[in-house]
Amino acid sequence: MERGLSGARILVTGGAGFLGSHLCERLLEQGHEVTCLDNYFTGQKKNIYHLLENKRFEVIRHDIVNPIFLEVDQIYNLACPASPIHYQYNPVKTTKTNVMGAINMLGLAKRVKAKILQASTSEVYGDPTIHPQDESYWGNVNPIGLRACYDEGKRCAETLFFDYHRQNGVNIKVVRIFNTYGPRMHPEDGRVVSNFVLRCIRNEPIPIYGSGNQTRSFCFVDDMIEGFIRMMNGPDEFIGPVNLGNPVENSILELAELIVRLTKSGSRLDFLPSVMDDPKRRKPDIAMAKEQLDWEPRIGLEEGLKRTIDYFRGESVVR
Ligand code: NAD
Ligand code: UDP
Repeated sequence: MERGLSGARILVTGGAGFLGSHLCERLLEQGHEVTCLDNYFTGQKKNIYHLLENKRFEVIRHDIVNPIFLEVDQIYNLACPASPIHYQYNPVKTTKTNVMGAINMLGLAKRVKAKILQASTSEVYGDPTIHPQDESYWGNVNPIGLRACYDEGKRCAETLFFDYHRQNGVNIKVVRIFNTYGPRMHPEDGRVVSNFVLRCIRNEPIPIYGSGNQTRSFCFVDDMIEGFIRMMNGPDEFIGPVNLGNPVENSILELAELIVRLTKSGSRLDFLPSVMDDPKRRKPDIAMAKEQLDWEPRIGLEEGLKRTIDYFRGESVVR
């Protein structure tokens, strides 16, 4: 049974990861009972150390490819490696996490009548042929490429969410997350923001895959978490999928130059061959999120990067 806006029992899968740890923190601040479930593949215990003293916080080491029986009111399903080097490390496992994990979490939601939110991704649009991407676009994904375990896994998870909704009446919410960054990104996950910040702090060359003219749109973590919570607590009829991201588009070269300036780094650019199926442009159309959730990002790239740089400097990542 739902327990209103405060005091709900909430499960966060992938709760020790980058986004998951921020979400657990915000939900605890709102007065909820939070269970963090994680297998620590890419998450880190230190992301949640500061939450362990809270009596409303509980941690379970578990892999979502296996079933689990819990009693909860809401589930945020975030468990899945998100950076290309991590999800390509064991691609079969990535597909299993997305597909079997979704089945297990949807089965749990069905059994206990919990509301469940899926952390989907802009990768369902693949290398998009329309720009910016809105939710009606079906995408352009290579089903056999190196990114397919993640892209197709996430697409199949969306299919499962909508089929559990139609077939079993499960109360679902699907958000499509565009590139999000901030404190607690894994320092070695190779994602563009964490990698560039780290390289600049260390005064090491910045790897640019391809020309650097490919674009992304970067959202600060606090804005993303606000979007998740608004989506979860919005009207039941609004199930998504809805894009969440910052519509301000930057090339990878612009990002590199900005991070060099903010860190006052001496790093130079190191141009490397482009990687397989790297999307050339990515920018969310967030009209639906604005209209349905009254949500849009508030923190600009420069401000968000400063906070991220401060975090990485404090993490003693300088060698
Ligand atoms: P992350 O890698 O920091 O967090 C993922 C967490 O899931 C980690 O703590 C990891 O240990 C855990 N995990 C992985 N496989 C698991 C399994 N089988 N069982 C239990 N736990 C498992 O990544 P993140 O950036 O925090 O991403 C969180 C979610 O948001 C992911 O589902 C990701 O696909 C999605 N997403 C993130 C972004 C982004 O830019 N950060 C963009 C699109 C989608
Ligand atoms: N990228 C780069 N250098 C890096 C890391 C990433 O040039 O050290 C590029 C990558 O090729 C892609 C973009 O930055 O075009 C974003 O990469 P990331 O892995 O962060 O996320 P993606 O959006 O591709 O999943």
